[in-house]
Amino acid sequence: MHTLLSELAAELAEREARGMLRRRRLLESAQGAHVRVDGLEVLSFCSNDYLGLASHPALVRAVQAAVQSCGVGSGASHLIAGHHRLHHELEQALARHVGLPRALLFSTGYMANLGVICALVGRGDAVFADRLNHASLNDAAVLSRARLKRYPHNDLDALDRLLATSSARRKLVVADAVFSMDGDLAPVPDLLALCERHGAWLMLDDAHGFGVLGEGGRGILEHYRIASPRIIYMATLGKAAGVAGAFVAGDERLIESLLQNARTYVYTTAAPPLLSAAVLASLQLIETEGWRRAHLKALGALLRDRVCLKRWQLMDTCTPIIPLIIGTNAEAVRVSEHLLERGILVPAIRPPTVPVGTARLRISLSAGHTAEDVIRLADALNAVEAA
Ligand SMILES: *Cc1c(COP(=O)(O)O)cnc(C)c1O
Repeated sequence: MHTLLSELAAELAEREARGMLRRRRLLESAQGAHVRVDGLEVLSFCSNDYLGLASHPALVRAVQAAVQSCGVGSGASHLIAGHHRLHHELEQALARHVGLPRALLFSTGYMANLGVICALVGRGDAVFADRLNHASLNDAAVLSRARLKRYPHNDLDALDRLLATSSARRKLVVADAVFSMDGDLAPVPDLLALCERHGAWLMLDDAHGFGVLGEGGRGILEHYRIASPRIIYMATLGKAAGVAGAFVAGDERLIESLLQNARTYVYTTAAPPLLSAAVLASLQLIETEGWRRAHLKALGALLRDRVCLKRWQLMDTCTPIIPLIIGTNAEAVRVSEHLLERGILVPAIRPPTVPVGTARLRISLSAGHTAEDVIRLADALNAVEAA
């Protein structure tokens, strides 16, 4: 036992020596634009709560009402006795919201991705994945035992070649709809055309697009005004929706077969139904309060307008994820620390989360920010670069 633990200690020490030891900050307030972390009041640009709904009073009230009538725990898996009326209503509301025939709830986005990919492909099949996809999609492909073929970011020619030379029985192309560390979009209409040509499924992970993209916040499909029965749409409910969980939507037969076969659906306790009540309240706001998306867009434009940098570059995105590429790990960390000294929290993202040499600050905007908040960030960035 002693040697097993000293092996772990050595690995941790080595990780620390490389400056790669991760540590958690302690959050002591509700999530929002202004938070208390590690005892400091800061202006935060690091949550995925893009619409500022995570602590919205309407969601809090919905949870309070639900907990009175349905208690806390769900008590069982969906297929045994845990599928509550609130889960059911939410599935119907989500399907309607994204304009697809049917939806199925999962407890987290990670579990949804594992469940879907492992239910649809196995030995003899192949998964084609963008290099910048979320880790959960890669993990799912490995777990499925299908061949995993990764193509360079948004490189349609490379994907076309991989699909053309594959002899896999079933082909599944998987892409983040919005790439989480770059904030750019997958070229979905072109991906769909390739999938049609090669008889492949197309799975889109819209964790960062749901609630944010499209006039009505319906996500990537609304953004591109696209629909196809070969699309497997997945989105998470812990980011713009401000709660927790995820869902998959698509053709009736697809969803029914996931309900039967997805192991992360079948063999797990249903999420507390009070979370479904919160997401139902959140969906109402997503649909009726278009000003949140308009405000986000205006904040993005304001930041780009106000920032005036020589060495570092803001990436051009149409989402609330605005990466500032710095380069080396040490400098990215230094910039993040300088901002923190000015009371502004922006996380430094380093390899292996992003490619070597592209360490960055990942600025994420929220409808909960004011113009003054964004001006404070821009002015601080200008000052830190000049210092
Ligand atoms: C956050 C995220 C997930 C995981 O979702 P959780 O609900 O947090 O487990 C999956 N895919 C992408 C692209 C994400 O950003």
